[in-house]
Amino acid sequence: MASPPQGDMPSAGLIDYAATLDCVHCGLCLPDCPTYQETGRETSSPRGRIYLMRGVAEGRIPLDSQVVEETYFCLACRACESACPAGVRYGHLIESMRAEIDARGARPRTTRFFQRLVLRHLIGSPWMLRAAFGALRFYQRRGLQRLLRASGLLRLLPPLARAERMLPPLPDPFRAPLVIPAEGHRRGRVAFFSGCLMPELFEPVHTATVEVLTRNGFEVAVPRNQRCCGALHLHSGDPVGAERLMRKNCRVFPLDNFDAVITNSAGCGAALKEYPNEIAPKVRDICEWLHEVGLRPPQGAVPMRVAYDDPCHLLHGQRVAEAPRAILSAIPGLELFDLPGARDCCGAAGIYNLTHADMADTLLARKIAALRDTRPDAIATGNPGCLLQIGSGVRAANLDIEVVHPVQLLARAYACEEKHGFPHDPPEAAQR
Ligand code: SF4
Ligand code: SF4
Repeated sequence: MASPPQGDMPSAGLIDYAATLDCVHCGLCLPDCPTYQETGRETSSPRGRIYLMRGVAEGRIPLDSQVVEETYFCLACRACESACPAGVRYGHLIESMRAEIDARGARPRTTRFFQRLVLRHLIGSPWMLRAAFGALRFYQRRGLQRLLRASGLLRLLPPLARAERMLPPLPDPFRAPLVIPAEGHRRGRVAFFSGCLMPELFEPVHTATVEVLTRNGFEVAVPRNQRCCGALHLHSGDPVGAERLMRKNCRVFPLDNFDAVITNSAGCGAALKEYPNEIAPKVRDICEWLHEVGLRPPQGAVPMRVAYDDPCHLLHGQRVAEAPRAILSAIPGLELFDLPGARDCCGAAGIYNLTHADMADTLLARKIAALRDTRPDAIATGNPGCLLQIGSGVRAANLDIEVVHPVQLLARAYACEEKHGFPHDPPEAAQR
């Protein structure tokens, strides 16, 4: 949330003017910024954008279309935050700037209207999402997709054609019971934050997450009436929409009952950890949690070469780098390596790959080139946007490479040990 103006500071509206002053213009973040790497333009760098924010807040720079474009050209990947020695909270700053842009009506009315419509009334409503994805499943499975693609009609609406192309074959949705009991020795109880799009798009990831939690001795509760975490709303200049969702989520997670709130989506985790209430300290990424409490070592082998790719909102937003690598390294037979450029953004960035297709494609091309060079059996990454983006690139390049969440490989190792009759109970060392 943007801070109110303090003391003799200018009235900056929703821009957190005080936070812009933390930037000391050193430029150490520039080499890590994808938009600066590609353009070489100062205004497309973190330092340049903070200068623009400060100028707008002070009334020196008009909030015109060029400033709006630079603000939205940013991927909000937060690589600059990790690089910054001055602790500038860039993610928070870009959100406050986007909120100010919409508060002043500086984006085209139709863009704002459609974005709000989708974010508040589709993404923000589980029932609308279920209905929309039900229709999409019908479209994919009953031959309509083939017909529409063959008709060439999609070419008339390029953003729609792009979204349609990116959509993977949809699995059945994830619908879990309210409580799933722990297997063997019970180590605790966790709540699972299932998110908005994940249950519709990534049922296998959710099922694997619940499996590894129960196999590690945790009872898993999946509270009903959860909503989107609000990350997409915040990134799109809608803090009011994000706050509404936060309030609804806080009502359905009675925290006394849980050791942790688990998410398998890096973007959701980063947003939930910044909720200004008591949920935030309990939020853990699934890999972070298993690493923290002590993973029950899997006995089943998964003989694959796996490249790991860091989701920006796990690496920069949550500073979680070691845990997923440790979890994957614990799987017998699995050969793990970092994809060259693992720390770089893939270009997904929420809806960025739809609004800034050229830049998103450029960043994706780097990942695909690294995959062509290293030829792993699978690429593992823990965020739905990255899974979609890299998945669409792999399909388009016709590469025989699986795109998976780390937890799916772990679940595979447990499933394999079950086949060979290993016991369920965690060894003493892994028990709390
Ligand atoms: S968030 Fe990413 S794209 Fe935006 S300024 Fe920082 S490094 Fe650059
Ligand atoms: S590294 Fe930090 S202080 Fe230096 S220019 Fe970038 S944002 Fe400003």
